[in-house]
Amino acid sequence: LRRPVIAGNWKMYKTRDEALQFIYAVNQEVPSRDLVESVVCANDVFLRDLVKRQGENIKIGAQNMHYAENGAFTGETSPLMLETTGVEYVIIGHSERRAMFNETDETVNLKAHAAIKHELTPIICVGESLEIREAGTTDQVVKNQVVKAYLNIDRNQALKTIIAYEPIWAIGTGKTATPEQAEETIKNIRGVMKDLYGADIANQVRILYGGSVNTKNVDSLLAQENIDGALVGGASLDAASYLTLVNAA
Ligand code: 13P
Repeated sequence: LRRPVIAGNWKMYKTRDEALQFIYAVNQEVPSRDLVESVVCANDVFLRDLVKRQGENIKIGAQNMHYAENGAFTGETSPLMLETTGVEYVIIGHSERRAMFNETDETVNLKAHAAIKHELTPIICVGESLEIREAGTTDQVVKNQVVKAYLNIDRNQALKTIIAYEPIWAIGTGKTATPEQAEETIKNIRGVMKDLYGADIANQVRILYGGSVNTKNVDSLLAQENIDGALVGGASLDAASYLTLVNAA
């Protein structure tokens, strides 16, 4: 019913040469898109180079964008600009951007609208800090993030989005959420989507897990009923590792 998605988030890693080498290495190896949506989200500087060389079964995404079409926003990239590179996905509201670059639930919502308008699939990130997990308020906090991200997004638009649940304490720490923890929160997120859009839509929207996903833990995470794929940092940088992940989906 829900086609799995494995999205690499390269963050601020890889030179242009390294990025191109990766694409050449995986192009012929990634499984058919009928089976899994394979995506890598790279730096804006060489997105166009990657799009031009992408094989038919792998797609390219950006890691962020501004919500405005244009304007006096020095250093920013607009959705219109991303659209012209040919990328099909954009990560929105990654916790690193929320923590370090003033991303808020409001800008996440504006960016989600802008992405949909420009036919980019937004990968909308939500997730709690360790303090919140320990305080036992994860479900409320994540629900609030989801509700705010989807403000004024209608049913048809919601279908074009992907959600990534990334507990902040699991990102880059080697500390993965257990499959049960990830499933529990993702099931709750699906419940929020059901409240917002009804069961039909909620059952179609893909919800990914992210946070220290690797070739060893990917199977047990993807085996969970509500986990439809992964948003992967470190383990997506190496071509062989990335291929293992997409083949697990
Ligand atoms: P790691 O897989 O390196 O923990 O990063 C997760 C992440 O932030 C993906 O967006």
